[in-house]
Amino acid sequence: MNPSLEIFSQGEEIVTGHTVDTNAAWLSQQAVQLGFTVTRHTAVGDKLDDLVALLEEISRRADCCICTGGLGPTSDDLTALAVAKAFDLPLEFDALAFAQIRQFFINRNREMPESNRKQAMLPKGAERLDNEWGTAPGFAVQYRRCWFVFLPGVPSEMRAIFLEKIRTALDKRFSLQPSTLVSIKTFGIGESDIQQRIDGIDIPAEVQLGFRASLNEVQTKLLFPPRYPDAGMTALVAAVAGTLGDYVFAVDGLGEVTGDLAYTVDQLMKAGKHTLAVVETASQGLLAGLCSGSAWLLETRYECSLERLARKLALAVSTEDLPGTAKAIALATQKSSGADFILVQLYAGDLPALLDKDKLVVLHTVLWAGGRFHPATHSVAGPIKRKQNQAALMALDSLRRYLQRTEPDVLACDLVKILVPVNKFPDAVF
Ligand code: ATP
Ligand code: MG
Repeated sequence: MNPSLEIFSQGEEIVTGHTVDTNAAWLSQQAVQLGFTVTRHTAVGDKLDDLVALLEEISRRADCCICTGGLGPTSDDLTALAVAKAFDLPLEFDALAFAQIRQFFINRNREMPESNRKQAMLPKGAERLDNEWGTAPGFAVQYRRCWFVFLPGVPSEMRAIFLEKIRTALDKRFSLQPSTLVSIKTFGIGESDIQQRIDGIDIPAEVQLGFRASLNEVQTKLLFPPRYPDAGMTALVAAVAGTLGDYVFAVDGLGEVTGDLAYTVDQLMKAGKHTLAVVETASQGLLAGLCSGSAWLLETRYECSLERLARKLALAVSTEDLPGTAKAIALATQKSSGADFILVQLYAGDLPALLDKDKLVVLHTVLWAGGRFHPATHSVAGPIKRKQNQAALMALDSLRRYLQRTEPDVLACDLVKILVPVNKFPDAVF
């Protein structure tokens, strides 16, 4: 039987709904993948007695508990005190934790408030979990049958400590039989199309197939039971990813860490030492935003309509000939920026049509790369936020497809390396 694990989120803001408990969701996924049975999620406000009572209960019924939040310096951060009371482990000053907290402030050239000293008070005998990403150290302690892990509430800090320290510790402490979750990430294809494409593939009954769709990507998930043969797993993932072809931009769960579409493009651009300039209309700055923070983004320009854009660039435009106009814009931008690649994102129609949720607009993306123009056209309906998002992602996806087709070697995942070069990116020249 799998060991049981509970997740416990501390904070009034969670209970009152001001903060959505993303920590519990993320930790659950991690725990299930590691081979735990997650039995309960609980959220408790800033009430010492409630916290003490809950810790008491969990120590009798779970093999492991991960608690997030309440480790900060303020008076509503009560976790360490609750642990001290519940498990009868008086708080003790940890000199090394204190030195690390002080160093955090020195590195930022800030005075350390006296209240932060509280974060160096840990329950007697607890194992300190250094926090290289913030001030509050976490800690772990065994009480009765349960191994308790206490982590900061800030999601980025919590995740970093979990991935760096807790995952391996859990592996060592418990006899876990992990299942393997593989997520095939696609852009530009919907769930029902995916389902249809994979209908012909024989998926064994013990492998669970699932989908997770969002505006930014659709994930096709295959959950393999413990000890599923490697060769069978690879063959099935290859078969599913193979039928999805160039819609696949990453495969998660086969060892390498992957991210979203923007992350994939960033990896490819860096590896190829390319540079990019972006000109956008319907995506309203979002395309540049998705590329921001990268040294490879040389120039960006946003105008709300084609007419304004043409005026600014002193170009003649023809709304009848969007591809031709996009080509002229790309060439002008190439001249001014000197970038290797130019992405031009335009739409047919006027601004009122773009803003009207009931009107469909046609998006035109032109990528200038490798001395050629690569056009793509899509229709999108719905509120402006949706149109903006789709316009940005479709443009970014044009770049991703080009890069994965021309430089498959730099891709993280072996499966994608094999599969994506078969893609059928429209390589028209006009
Ligand atoms: P700090 O030093 O920041 O006080 P802490 O460990 O005390 O760290 P909290 O005060 O509980 O953590 O939370 C800090 C912030 O982290 C919250 O304001 C909230 O934005 C976020 N946070 C806390 N708990 C969660 C949670 N369960 N899910 C998502 N975000 C959370
Ligand atoms: Mg706090």
